Amino acid sequence: MEVDLAIGWMRATADAVAAASDELTRLDAAIGDGDHGVNLTRGFRAVAAVLEAGTFTSAGEVFVKAGSTLISKVGGASGPLYGSALRSLGKALPPGPSVTPADLAAGLRAGLEAVRKLGGAEPGDKTIVDAWKPAADAFEATVAAGGDLPAAAGEAAVAAREGARATADLLARKGRASYLGERSVGHQDPGATSTALLFRALSEQTGNSG
Ligand code: ADP
Ligand code: MG
Repeated sequence: MEVDLAIGWMRATADAVAAASDELTRLDAAIGDGDHGVNLTRGFRAVAAVLEAGTFTSAGEVFVKAGSTLISKVGGASGPLYGSALRSLGKALPPGPSVTPADLAAGLRAGLEAVRKLGGAEPGDKTIVDAWKPAADAFEATVAAGGDLPAAAGEAAVAAREGARATADLLARKGRASYLGERSVGHQDPGATSTALLFRALSEQTGNSG
């Protein structure tokens, strides 16, 4: 992964989140406070603008900048969570113009650990973790089996989407949705849904059709 792809991924995520803003808000209105689409659209638009204006020598710098921007621009729980994830991803990557798929696998794992450390969610708690963990696992397994970046990103996107869909059956144990208890069951988690968009954007940017 090079600087251009890193920036392209963030820009594509901004577009995907904006296009799905109403859907994310609808999901959040069902089990939260209905601001997830607005929060993330504002946050990733700011990320795209900041990246456009900056100069970067590594993919890692791009993600650190993207993460810091989300932390400063998004008030909801998802801003600090996604912001920390991207910052940790960026910090885990080696300096220099190019990053291998194995580096990125380790970076995605670091991003997941950041979310878990900050939010305390375990798999199955109906959060971002339920899409990010299967995506990171699939990415890592594909790379370990000799797969290249598009292959790993494609598998990660599928795993994230399936993980997000599976949150519909779960009881929320973290975040606002946990206040609903049993009433959170039957609704797909907004944060897991936006994580699936993030990984689909990566897959598309590596040349997969989606
Ligand atoms: P808020 O809940 O502050 O309104 P958002 O609506 O932007 O923030 O984001 C809600 C999403 O954040 C949830 O759908 C869930 O996926 C995610 N989330 C909330 N708390 C946590 C947590 N502790 N760990 C991981 N993800 C979380
Ligand atoms: Mg909300």
